[in-house]
Amino acid sequence: MQADVIFENAIIRTVDATLPRASAVAVVGDRIAAVGDDLSGISAKRRVDLEGATIVPGFNDAHNHMQAFGAALNEVALQPTVVRSVEEIVNAIGRRVDATEAGVWVIGTGYDDNKLDERRHPTRQELDRVSPDNPVLLNHTSGHFCVVNTAAMRLARVGEVAVPEGGVVALGEDGTPNGLLEEQAQTLARSLLHPRPTGDLVVNLGAASDHYLSEGITSCQEAGVGGILGTVEPVEVAAYQAARRAGRLRVRVTLMPSVETLHAIDHHPSDDEPFALDLGVHTGFGDDWLRFGPTKIFADGSLIGRTAAMFDDFEGDPGNNGYFQMDEERLHSLIFRAHRAGWQVATHAIGDRAVASVVDAYERAMDEIPRDDCRHRIEHCGMTRAVEVDRIAKLGVIPVPQGRFVNELGDGMLRAIGGRTPDCYRQKSFLDAGIVVPGSSDRPVVQGAPLLGIHDLVNQRTGSGVAFNPHEALTAAEALEAFTLSSAYAAFDEERKGSITVGKLADFTVLDRDIVSIDPEEISATIVEATVVGGVVEFDRSGRAA
Ligand SMILES: [Zn+2]
Repeated sequence: MQADVIFENAIIRTVDATLPRASAVAVVGDRIAAVGDDLSGISAKRRVDLEGATIVPGFNDAHNHMQAFGAALNEVALQPTVVRSVEEIVNAIGRRVDATEAGVWVIGTGYDDNKLDERRHPTRQELDRVSPDNPVLLNHTSGHFCVVNTAAMRLARVGEVAVPEGGVVALGEDGTPNGLLEEQAQTLARSLLHPRPTGDLVVNLGAASDHYLSEGITSCQEAGVGGILGTVEPVEVAAYQAARRAGRLRVRVTLMPSVETLHAIDHHPSDDEPFALDLGVHTGFGDDWLRFGPTKIFADGSLIGRTAAMFDDFEGDPGNNGYFQMDEERLHSLIFRAHRAGWQVATHAIGDRAVASVVDAYERAMDEIPRDDCRHRIEHCGMTRAVEVDRIAKLGVIPVPQGRFVNELGDGMLRAIGGRTPDCYRQKSFLDAGIVVPGSSDRPVVQGAPLLGIHDLVNQRTGSGVAFNPHEALTAAEALEAFTLSSAYAAFDEERKGSITVGKLADFTVLDRDIVSIDPEEISATIVEATVVGGVVEFDRSGRAA
C-alpha cells in the first residue's frame, strides 16, 4: 500500500474502543487506511510530523442552524458579549439605519433579555426613535422571539391579520402591540424576509463553513431546512447543492427537513401513505457530503423565554406553564405519519410536559408500526423527569442536549425553573441509563465552537460561575465522544464517521493540546491547529499540517 499522506508523531484520541490511542494515521483518498504507533513500514507520498500535537475525530455538531448563523454574520450583532442594555441595542440599530437606504430592512441578531441591564425585551417604540421609516427586526438569541418596530409591524399587518396558532403578539401597558412576537407569531414579520435569493443563501453557507472549519468542525446537522419558526425557504436544499458545486460548502451536512415540507403523495393503494418530500425522498437519501437526516418538528418553546411546555408553572410566574406550538393531537399525528413513512423523527421538546408528550408519541408510533433502529430524537430535551429517562432508554430515543446552554443560558434557566434543576439538561444520567448523547450547539442560539461545548459538558458552570448540576458533568473523554461518534450515531453515520478507524472517512482535527488529559479548566483555551476533511487539509492555522 502507498498512502497519500501519513500524519505522525501525534497523540491520537481515536474514540475507537478497540484502539483508543495511537500516534500515526495513514490516508488513502478520502479514507483512513491505517492507524497505529508505527507506520514507518508504509510508504507515503507525503509525511506530516505533527510534533506531539493531538488528533481527534472531526467534530460533528448534531444540531445547528448553519444558514441562520451565516446570515447572522452580516446582521447587527446584539449578542450579550456586544451589548449590555436596551439603550445599546437601540444605538447599534440606529447606526446601521443611518448607513442603510430608506425602506430597507435592518436586522439585528442575538440579544438575550435575561442578560440586558433592564431584563426585558426592547419595544417597538424604542426602535421607532432611531428608525421611523426602515423596518427593523431583532432576533432573540433563542430564535423563539423577535421584536419589530412600527414600520415592520405595518408591513406585517400586525393587528389586522389573525395571529398564527402557537404564537402570541405581546401587548404593552397601553394595550397595543409592543413589538414582541412570540414563537409562531414571528411568521407575521419573518414571512416578509423569506424566501431569500439563493445566491444570498450560498454566501451565508460559505461564510459559515469557513468559520466551522476554523473550529475543527467537519460535519454538522442542520436542524430545519425549508422553513423554521416563521422563516420559509422553499428551495433551501438547492442552495446547499449550489454551495457545494461552487466549492463553498466545505463541511459535510445532514439536512433535517422541517415537517412542514413533507406532504402526502399519490401512491399504490397497497403502500402506506407516503409522507415525504417529492418522489418519496426521506431519511438517508444523499451522499457523504449532503444527506437528508431526520424530519424536524417543534413541540414547544424555550426555558429562558418561559414558553416551554411544563407540568408546573415557571418560577415566580403563576399561571404560566408554557405552551405547545401546535395542539398535541396534531403533534402526535405528524410524528406518527413521519414514523410510518420511514423518517427518523427529531422533535424539539424542552419543557418536561413536552418531553413526556413526545415520548408518548414515539412509543405509540413504534408500538403500532414496529420498525428496527428508528433512532428518533428529542432535540434539546431540556427538562426530563426520571420516569422519562427510563422510557427514553427503553425506546432507544436519542436526546440532543446542548452543553453550551449551561454556560450562556444557565443563569436564566435557573431563574425560570427554581428547584427543578436536577431534571434540567441531563447528560451523565442519560449515559448511565445506556442512552447515546450527541454533542451540539444549536448555533446561532449560543456560540458553537465544539471545544466550548466540550468545556461546558465537563465543567458545568453558568456564565456567572454557579455550579449547574455538577453530578451531570461528563469526563473529557465522554464529551469528546459526544461531539464525534455519538453525533455520527444520531445521524446513522457511525459506520462512516466519528472515530479514527480504518475504512472511515479521513475527517479529523488537530489540536494544540490533549483535551482528554489536561486540566478541564483549560479545555476552552485549546487551539484548533488544522482541520482535515476527506483527507484534505481544509484549514491550517500555522502551516503545521501542510
Ligand atoms: Zn435549533
